[in-house]
Amino acid sequence: ITRLTFDQISTAVHDAYEACKDIKGGQNAHYIPYLANVNSDLFGISLCLPDGRLISVGDTDYRFGIESVSKVHTAILALEQHGAQAILDNIGADATGLPFNSIFAILLENDRPSTPLVNAGAIAACSLVKPHGDADGKWKAIFDNMTALLGSEPVLIDELYHSESATNFDNRSITWLLQEYGRIYDDPKMSLDLYTRQCSLGVTAEQLAISAATIADDGANPITKRRVFGAELTPKVVALMSAVGFYEHSGDWLYATGLPAKTGVGGAVIGVMPGLFGVCAFAPPLDDAGNSVKAQAALKHLMKSLNLNVFSNT
Ligand code: GLN
Repeated sequence: ITRLTFDQISTAVHDAYEACKDIKGGQNAHYIPYLANVNSDLFGISLCLPDGRLISVGDTDYRFGIESVSKVHTAILALEQHGAQAILDNIGADATGLPFNSIFAILLENDRPSTPLVNAGAIAACSLVKPHGDADGKWKAIFDNMTALLGSEPVLIDELYHSESATNFDNRSITWLLQEYGRIYDDPKMSLDLYTRQCSLGVTAEQLAISAATIADDGANPITKRRVFGAELTPKVVALMSAVGFYEHSGDWLYATGLPAKTGVGGAVIGVMPGLFGVCAFAPPLDDAGNSVKAQAALKHLMKSLNLNVFSNT
């Protein structure tokens, strides 16, 4: 960040928090029993700069379900293991214009699941993770990659994992349709279980800000200084996030904010400004598309007051 000082960014984060903390509206994800019961008043924003400085306000140490934000992490792993072209050929990189759990994501794209950032493509991405056929080895790869991106370990929320495994009928249907179309590249049940488990990992807003900053910093974690993935993947990851990070509202979101971002039904939204920062806002109540109401408002406020936009140089 050349023209912005640390104090300006810090003030903007605090202002966004103050401006949005009393916003009402939305409701917790109701289709996953564990999430329905999380305290709806939790709210936090954390921003991480490439030099590792963190600006955090509110409930940024609270551990919540990562849910679909995990899809970005495992997409990175699959990209690292197989390369950008293989992910395009086997999954896709397209917008769907559909809800995250839509089965039509598969049918739309000539039998490809469209993108690793919706359920169908994320389950396919879990199936691609190496070592093939080895559930424990694959889980270790997913967990270790997540840990490297976050800069510290996530913690499995057992109750969330069980609650989601018992009720994920839509994802089971998606998995069998993927199998029918030859778009599951390992055991289908194992792939679905890995996906459900990764969604049930507990993380904090601060951890997610660090992983977003790792993407912004071309794959080098600004806290641990470890290289997590090749710099050439950042534009691919940011392109995926831009195209479909908000599902059927992705275009509206980008148009309104200019911030490539990815949401999860646990209430998190991560945003990546390449070279500048990674940010996470978290608040459980969601809009109709499953995107956190308060987190969206906070990030919109932040981008406006910093006068930043990924599509603009001014
Ligand atoms: N685990 C959730 C699901 O598969 C994730 C959805 C989300 O965060 N959008 O339904």
